[in-house]
This record gives sequence, structure tokens and C-alpha cells, in this order.
Amino acid sequence: MKNQIMLVENCFKISIGSFPKGLVRKCEDGDFPAGQLKISNGEKTLNLSYSFQIEADNGVATFSFISPYFPHETRKIQTIPMEIVPSAWGKKCYFQCTCGRRCFTIYLRPDGKRFGCRKCLDLTYEIETVNRQLMNGDILRINRLNVLLEKRDKIKRIFYDGKTTRRAQSFIHLREKWGL
Ligand SMILES: [Zn+2]
Repeated sequence: MKNQIMLVENCFKISIGSFPKGLVRKCEDGDFPAGQLKISNGEKTLNLSYSFQIEADNGVATFSFISPYFPHETRKIQTIPMEIVPSAWGKKCYFQCTCGRRCFTIYLRPDGKRFGCRKCLDLTYEIETVNRQLMNGDILRINRLNVLLEKRDKIKRIFYDGKTTRRAQSFIHLREKWGL
């Protein structure tokens, strides 16, 4: 499981933007936001209960959920510190992951029990794996071209005694096989 790539796209995702606007202001007014969210990862739906407590420059979000991947386990309660940051438009808030990162978005892996940041959960964007595959493809093609060029340099003659030489045949065969 450790070496398997887990995509962001397969995880449950929560952003500050998933919650009602003005979380900090609401809390300052004594109207602590709480409610329920349905989050889909494209395969299953997670029902999340949430509440926010923000006072002055400290805050905490409390989540309560049962992962649809572990429906028989007890309800998980997770509290996440909130970081309050002043901005031109009033105070903004972020989740603070256990690693200390300030996050606008946090994730829950299908095989996971806690929300965390992309780094902590070792998540990869699908586009990154596509880029990696493309790059591997390019490297492979360049290596093959080099092999072919070397082979071509070793061909002293294409025909001998009315037949194509072994080296020439091998070159032609590889070139056709690799489509180069
Ligand atoms: Zn983290």
C-alpha cells in the first residue's frame, strides 16, 4: 500500500470554501457555524458533521464522520486547529495540519482515518502521473534512437553477396519494431 500512488482525485476533499462564507465573522458574532456536508470522492459519499469555534486569533474545527469505506467502525471525531490570518477583506481562516502547514484544502484517503494535507497523506495529482508517464515515454524513445544510431554506425555494408547483411537486418527489424 505504501508504494502505491494515491491520487488527490480519489480522496474526500474539504476546503474552507465548502463551508458558509465569513466563518471568522460569524464566530465573532457568537453564531458558531455548524452543520452537515455531503462529500463525494466520485465513488462513495461521506457525511460530515462540522462545527467551528473561533475566538480572537485561535480557532478549531471539529469534524465527526464515519468513512463509507469503514462503515462498521465507530464514528471518528477529529479536531483541526484553525489559523486566523488578517487580510484586506477581514480575517481569513485556514486549516492547520498536524505538520504545521496552513491549508485551504484537506483530504481524507479512502484507506485513511483522518483528514490531513496533501503532503502528509502522500497524495499526487492525476496530471502529475500523466506527465511522469509522458516523460518516461520520451526518455525511452531517446534511448531507443541512440541504440538505433549506434547500430547504424556499425553497419559497414547493407548488402553482401546479394543479401542484406545481418547487422542491416537487425537494424531494420528494430526500427520497425519500435516504430522509429
Ligand atoms: Zn500535513
